[in-house]
Amino acid sequence: STERKYMVAGNWKMNGNRALVDDFKKNLAVPSAVDVLICPPAPYLSLFDGAEFLVGAQTISEFEKGAHTGDVSASMLADLGVNHVILGHSERRQDHGESNEQVAAKVKLALDSGLTPILCVGEPLSVREAGEVNAYVQQQIDAVLDVCGDRFFDKAVIAYEPIWAIGTGKTASPEQAQDVHAFIRAHLLKSSSAAQQMRILYGGSVNAQNAKELFAQADIDGGLIGGASLKVDDFNIICQAA
Ligand code: PEP
Repeated sequence: STERKYMVAGNWKMNGNRALVDDFKKNLAVPSAVDVLICPPAPYLSLFDGAEFLVGAQTISEFEKGAHTGDVSASMLADLGVNHVILGHSERRQDHGESNEQVAAKVKLALDSGLTPILCVGEPLSVREAGEVNAYVQQQIDAVLDVCGDRFFDKAVIAYEPIWAIGTGKTASPEQAQDVHAFIRAHLLKSSSAAQQMRILYGGSVNAQNAKELFAQADIDGGLIGGASLKVDDFNIICQAA
């Protein structure tokens, strides 16, 4: 991770309120060597105007515009000045049945609108126990590469988030995470040398105590943080660990 700028991204999920937005705008300290990103629920996005960190959304519609009640489009985010979006989070895949193909369509729309997609991939416990992590993650990535091609490498960030580690307090060991990150990078390098510059974030129960050791791994370029992104003091420590 020597020549890649670290990114620490907070995924608030369906949490937070105006007071938390104000707390973060006031108290989040951005280290100069780190891209710090907060992804609040969509209704709060515009409250972050003037923030000294990056702001992103948690999903977008797979459609460009039109009769899709409740959905938010990539171009609307771009119009608001929001430049990042998490896509394919496992909770979207589970709660909303998002398929690899739908995630790929979203990544393409994000790129079309100039947004930086943070593509989440990661296996359920059964896949890890079956020893099929790499094949599973490869399939999730290839579905996106099939649709986006080389454009993916210009902007995208990948987040490896083993599902069994999300919100469970059970983090992947630094070695387990590094193994998958190295596999992902090697796989991407088969398509483009630009994969050398791509950030691959780790997500899954990262906290103020374990961040440093995870971020020290060669192919871990930062983190996607759920629970620990809701307390500015903890999140500041994680940003400093990057
Ligand atoms: C996430 O939802 O992206 C995540 C990593 O959550 P947590 O940090 O709470 O495990």
